[in-house]
Amino acid sequence: MPLDSPVQAERRARTAPPRRTRVAVALARAAAAVSRGTGAGAGGVVGGRIAAALDPDVVRHLGRDRTVVLVTGTNGKTTTASMLTRVLEPLGPVAANRDGANMPDGLIAALVDRPDAPFAVLEVDENYVADVAQRLRPACLVLLNLSRDQLDRVGEVRAVERGLRAAVAGLPGTAVVANCDDPLATSAAMASARPVWVSAGGSWTADALACGRCGRPIQHDGPAWRCRCGLARPRPDWVLAGDRAVDSAGRTAPLALQLPGRANAANAAMAVAAAALLGVDPAAAGARLATITEVAGRYRRTTLAGHPVRVLLAKNPAGWRETLPLLGDRSPVVIAVNGREADGRDLSWLWDVPFEVLRGRPVVAAGERSADLAVRLTYAGVPHVRCADPVRAVAGLPPGPVELVANYTAFRQLGQRSGDG
Ligand SMILES: [Zn+2]
Repeated sequence: MPLDSPVQAERRARTAPPRRTRVAVALARAAAAVSRGTGAGAGGVVGGRIAAALDPDVVRHLGRDRTVVLVTGTNGKTTTASMLTRVLEPLGPVAANRDGANMPDGLIAALVDRPDAPFAVLEVDENYVADVAQRLRPACLVLLNLSRDQLDRVGEVRAVERGLRAAVAGLPGTAVVANCDDPLATSAAMASARPVWVSAGGSWTADALACGRCGRPIQHDGPAWRCRCGLARPRPDWVLAGDRAVDSAGRTAPLALQLPGRANAANAAMAVAAAALLGVDPAAAGARLATITEVAGRYRRTTLAGHPVRVLLAKNPAGWRETLPLLGDRSPVVIAVNGREADGRDLSWLWDVPFEVLRGRPVVAAGERSADLAVRLTYAGVPHVRCADPVRAVAGLPPGPVELVANYTAFRQLGQRSGDG
């Protein structure tokens, strides 16, 4: 079911943006350039903030005349958006928030940075999808999964699902690509007039034990699931089968990914399904995905304090569930946990991560909230040492490879210290 036209020119009048928007964009670009030049940061978000202050409707104006894809969900947004960007690049320039700045300022910055790009692939924080999508009228919304994340900021996951469901219902022209193995994502996407269902699997169902619509228990039977209220797993249009994604017409995308793990295969299947809607051949899309080796520093292999280190990001129970199997069974593991606003200050989710599987290997609790982590590891029966600075934690280990898993701001701090190696 390809979309009517790759570039939806018919939906938007090809007129120059209003003067107010042009001024806002010019000043935002200047501010971003100054910020970059002074080393004050990537600069983009500052520019986005300025543009939004000068033109409250700047998102809508900047989105006109582009084919926009939004990517949302609890885990995998940055990776999946990066995959889609890579797949669409042969068709033309793509505006993208590659650094994961997924709130409105970051989205505006990405659009301001590439004003002439015919495509935009934007990852969007779940709580901003309704507002952003109303303004951008995306061709496609990719809804990856829904589980608990940052309880104090994002809110209760079923409330997030209800918000997304209402947003989807207000987008009759948008195709919604959703993982039909995730009952909460399915409940939200079921409100779409144009759903595309991907059986992408999932290993974390603890947040979808109860139906998002009626609260009754979801019955699971193999891949199928249903609730007594009638909500049930729809028939998939795409199936992730091992290392390939196959659609109901038999079109196949081989996924020879360099990125590790089942979750990335799921992200790839979602990206292929979305790209196919925009007219990209699935096999060609799969081949493009094989060229990705890291995503905004995640999965990066680097040298820190003389050790070969692989850097992974995990910031909630579902993300940890996918990350633990990647860690092998020998190398020491340094876990860095912060509790800043962007991480969520409530770290109670640590108690839902099965850290018990790390017993028997060297573990270091690091990060600004290493004390909270250390308590959790103690109750999990995992002997460990504590060292708040993750780089010093690595330095203190015997020679050899190290797995370093960090949550959001701890991960970003590592990126800023990449010269420490
Ligand atoms: Zn129900």
